[in-house]
Amino acid sequence: MEQFYALFEQVFAQNDLQPHVNEQNAATFEKLCSHILEVNKVHNLTAIRDVPGVVAKHFADSLTVAAFIPDGASVIDVGTGGGFPTLPLAVARQDLHITAIDSTAKKIAHVQNTAQLFGLSNVKAIACRAEELAQTTARESFDVATARAVSELRILCEITLPFVKVGGKLLAMKAASGEKELADASNAIFKLGGKLTVVHKFTLKDANGNQEERCIIEIAKVKQTPNNFPRQYAQILKKPL
Ligand code: SAM
Repeated sequence: MEQFYALFEQVFAQNDLQPHVNEQNAATFEKLCSHILEVNKVHNLTAIRDVPGVVAKHFADSLTVAAFIPDGASVIDVGTGGGFPTLPLAVARQDLHITAIDSTAKKIAHVQNTAQLFGLSNVKAIACRAEELAQTTARESFDVATARAVSELRILCEITLPFVKVGGKLLAMKAASGEKELADASNAIFKLGGKLTVVHKFTLKDANGNQEERCIIEIAKVKQTPNNFPRQYAQILKKPL
């Protein structure tokens, strides 16, 4: 525990995540880290296979988005994969109501089992395609949509913005190259009822001094998304907005 706490405190402090550092979170993140590494031996959910890597590249990186999510918000995490940012957010921000979706049933089963095991009653996990769920009552019903490392921005906007209420926002979590995708995404953002608010740029630092540039693209939902979006996925890929 002491060794993990030192690592957790160091990495979180380096990434301006001090508000999330306390003994209770450290204890939960230590157990979550062991659980993820154990499940990964069988299910291969993440390429990151060591404790320092999970703490920096999954836990700290996931929590960089927390500062931009209002208190008590309903959040949809599109393409959550092994549960990122969903699981770290659900631990550190118990005020949030998070719906995690992914098209891969195996990944969603892991997120659901993990949420249950850790008593994260603020997480609901659904195996589905985003573009299909967005044509149900889930449409325009969330304050915030998050997505980390999901698709190119103009495609991502079409599978996420329809979920966001007018007045809410999309937080697209990307590597530094995400900023370059913005130039191609202006038409998609406009057509889907969004408006670029700000690009939050930062450097993710791990315990070994490695640094990676990241950005969070914040897009406000200013108008309802027209009913013909999102289109079928094949169409989205063939003719991105
Ligand atoms: N967000 C996780 C992370 O940062 O570790 C996973 C990222 S992974 C590279 C992208 C995930 O998005 C995959 O698990 C994939 O199944 C999911 N995905 C891509 N397109 C999707 C769609 N249209 N609907 C639902 N899930 C989708």
